[in-house]
Amino acid sequence: MARFTQADLRELNQSFEERSPIDLLRWAKDVFGGRVAALSAMQRAGCVLCHIMGTHDLEIPVLFVDTGVNFQETLDTRDRVARAYGLDVITLKPRQSMEEQTKEFGILYLTPEGQKQCCSMRKIDPLQQAKGRFDCLIGSLRRAEGGKRGNVPILSVDPQMNCIRINPLANFTDEQLDQYLVDHEVIVNPMHSQGYTTVSCNRCTTPVLPTEPKRAGRWRHLGMWSAYCEINPTDRDGGLSKAIDFPQDLIDRLLGRKTDFAI
Ligand code: SF4
Repeated sequence: MARFTQADLRELNQSFEERSPIDLLRWAKDVFGGRVAALSAMQRAGCVLCHIMGTHDLEIPVLFVDTGVNFQETLDTRDRVARAYGLDVITLKPRQSMEEQTKEFGILYLTPEGQKQCCSMRKIDPLQQAKGRFDCLIGSLRRAEGGKRGNVPILSVDPQMNCIRINPLANFTDEQLDQYLVDHEVIVNPMHSQGYTTVSCNRCTTPVLPTEPKRAGRWRHLGMWSAYCEINPTDRDGGLSKAIDFPQDLIDRLLGRKTDFAI
């Protein structure tokens, strides 16, 4: 095993800026083979990602975290997307039901500290149960979302999952996203047309006024709409010193180094 840091991705990230989402997805499939998966919460950008992967037969599984308190519309969207785009959607679940968690810890999502604990148990831990199965996770974060995502790199390292994260839609503008959804009649979560700019757990997501920031509907009851559940490592911190441990041959492959020389 060798240490691989965010700084090691600098040149590759620069060269990826001009590449299209499908190019980036093909690169991920070529480099990581059967050890790459996408992560989608079945929001608009995640559905676009699923559409691109499905229509290009990339055979990349999709991980979906079912917190147990998702909107039914989100679960229905997951099932429709899987069927329509021929995708293998793997649903990950928390260890406890919301009822069991509440019995043991109380209603956590009503306080800022409790929200962190609840998101950790119901979102981050289910994903971490898949740690070791994948060397690369594909996300659908976009810089146009602003806030902590305003500078999201296309490639980043995720020390918690010990994998690479790739966001092929990082450069997709709001206009490009809207156009793609229309042009390809992409299946979208019906909650979006009910005023939900982002869609997460039914306990912590509300509709948003046109004059409000896009994430105003998240944890509105806590008065902290700029918060993040931190399932995405770039929402935690963007330090160049962040590192993962990878086999040297995998590092060489992802950096495009040729290693088949004779000594
Ligand atoms: S969004 Fe709310 S209900 Fe969902 S995991 Fe986080 S704190 Fe818990």
